[in-house]
Amino acid sequence: MSAQLRTPEDLSGLLKQHRAATDGQGAVDVETRKRRLQAVIDLLVDHHQELCAAMAADFGGRPIGFSLMNDILGSLGSLKYARDHLEEWMGPEPRQVFTPYDQMGAQAWVQYQPKGTVGIIGTWNAPIFTLFSPLASALSAGNRAVLKPSEVVPETARVLGRIIGECLDPLDVAVITGGVEIGQAFAGMPFDHLVFTGSTQVGKKIMRAAADNLVPVTLELGGKSPAIIGSSADIREAARRLAIAKGTNGGQLCISPDLLYVPEAAREEFLEAFCDTYSTLYPTIEGNPNVVSVVNDQHMARIDGYVAQAQEAGAELVRCPDVPVPTQGRKRPLSIVINPPLTVDIMREEIFGPALVLLTYSDINHVVAEINSGERPLALYYFGEDEAERTFVLEHTRSGGVTLDDALMHAAMEDAPFGGVGASGMGHYHGREGFAEFSHARTVFRSAPVDPRGEWGLLPPFSDQFAAMMAAQVTR
Ligand code: NAD
Repeated sequence: MSAQLRTPEDLSGLLKQHRAATDGQGAVDVETRKRRLQAVIDLLVDHHQELCAAMAADFGGRPIGFSLMNDILGSLGSLKYARDHLEEWMGPEPRQVFTPYDQMGAQAWVQYQPKGTVGIIGTWNAPIFTLFSPLASALSAGNRAVLKPSEVVPETARVLGRIIGECLDPLDVAVITGGVEIGQAFAGMPFDHLVFTGSTQVGKKIMRAAADNLVPVTLELGGKSPAIIGSSADIREAARRLAIAKGTNGGQLCISPDLLYVPEAAREEFLEAFCDTYSTLYPTIEGNPNVVSVVNDQHMARIDGYVAQAQEAGAELVRCPDVPVPTQGRKRPLSIVINPPLTVDIMREEIFGPALVLLTYSDINHVVAEINSGERPLALYYFGEDEAERTFVLEHTRSGGVTLDDALMHAAMEDAPFGGVGASGMGHYHGREGFAEFSHARTVFRSAPVDPRGEWGLLPPFSDQFAAMMAAQVTR
């Protein structure tokens, strides 16, 4: 069978082959896991130029250097980290046996077994990373995998389909390309685990479809990630770092700062420093090869619509750089919407593009309360030197992850889990936690050669002595 699957029937057939191979294989040793990971590493190294060209074509403008850093090196980082650490993760873990069996020679351990085949659905915004970074964790745990790239980046999906088909054993890693119908069929397949990266809305559909087969899911979703600039922060430096983060991938990142909470008294200083940095990074927009395009007209219209609606509702708007909005193409200056009413879409929907909301505040308690009144975000950022305030923010909010005094950075941690909470997702990949996510933690108990339960009066017919013995152990 070709590794490039075309129909749900092809996929169903491959999953049966995977199941037969998994049932017949026994333990998946270190060498097999490393070989599979290395084959994927080699594929990315051999085809990185083609993949970056495909991403540039799909976006209608995405710098090659950025695609290398974000998608190719991001994926290679996860794959190599998994390859170089899986041996220390996968061994059996001895566990403490309960009394009195511990004194009779019983043993117990946890054995981390591969689940089987992991299905991985990726997004368009980081089309390689959202497939290959979870794949690293899935393969480190000894699984097989099938990938489903996003149809919004058709050229990238086509190249992935071809190179995976040519270079990888379909019993290790296969791929199926296609649109929403293929996605729906994919989510309804009896995988042993399903990873979905995408919107919260589609994530709910995925979980419903997976429930029919009781397939466990990892949902890597989005949301409105807030950044709180404390009044003890170096305002200009916070603005500089947030401007760098917001420009990354044209704002089309799941952890892109979406709502900025700025102390009322620091508003002008912050705005000036933010726009200074943004306009230095992107002095022009139209035709500027460093500006990442909005991926398609539909998303462009969505973001333009959010900004126009907020402006109509009376919100102040600052554009940086302060240039005319291009009438051609899908590159835009950043729109900063200031203090819009709560009712407009930009206050409710994930922005996911070159716009953000700046909200001024005078009381940090109100900021925390406002964040807590919404869905749990994927990321949260805090800037400030005030240790008590930092602790207060960390302890009174929930989010998938946190970066302090910068933005985006925690997601680059290979040695720590990445994932959401609540509406921003469940489960995680990266690091040892990613290995555990795709493993079945199987407890094995090996009993002792002697069995004194009869002698000790622990078996029926139960005596009063037995009841007294049990009652004596009801302690605090
Ligand atoms: P999306 O939800 O529209 O699509 C994601 C994938 O799901 C695509 O492959 C698509 O083909 C498939 N799909 C769409 N409808 C489906 C259905 N009914 N059944 C099965 N599959 C279906 O998301 P998107 O627009 O590609 O990506 C943007 C979203 O992803 C944002 O919300 C962003 O925050 C989130 N995201 C999250 C992470 C993360 O790691 N948490 C990373 C990147 C993006």
